[in-house]
Amino acid sequence: MPELMAIMQLGAPILRQKATWVDNTQDEYIQKLIDDLIVTVAQANGVGIAAPQVAASCRLFIVASRPNLRYPHAPVMEPTAMINPRIIAHSTEIVQGWEGCLSVPGIRGLVPRYQAVEVAYTDRHGQLQKQKLTDFVARIFQHEYDHLDGVLFVDRVENSFDMMSEDEYQKTVINHT
Ligand code: ZN
Repeated sequence: MPELMAIMQLGAPILRQKATWVDNTQDEYIQKLIDDLIVTVAQANGVGIAAPQVAASCRLFIVASRPNLRYPHAPVMEPTAMINPRIIAHSTEIVQGWEGCLSVPGIRGLVPRYQAVEVAYTDRHGQLQKQKLTDFVARIFQHEYDHLDGVLFVDRVENSFDMMSEDEYQKTVINHT
């Protein structure tokens, strides 16, 4: 049975470490970690979660975009495990968007990201996948990818005036987009 995992919070050293490559995607530990991450991100109203956020320092994350309380306009997709992900190419266009993070509760920040990325990763069945991602899903990928290198979205906010509390965000941004 998948288990809900505790989510590490800003300040936990593991969130700042570079995660290690996954050698065997079929390892029982990795497969269980994927299942646990999927239930944990759903329960937390997240649209993505990376292994270091549950104190597992390996290069794996879940992208699970769907509309929820925290992201009412998110597109729907099946939760997808992306193992040893890479960015192969990216757009020159950079777009600003509001992000939050389950490891940085209560805070939103305006973060510049590539509008589109071409990515490669190994799926949970061990197959190499290549995909072009755009807009919100491209943003999730880049946010989660950063977690594998110990980078948090607050590091990418360009100006402290581009940050706001979750409550303020819900009142002023979500209701006007
Ligand atoms: Zn995050």
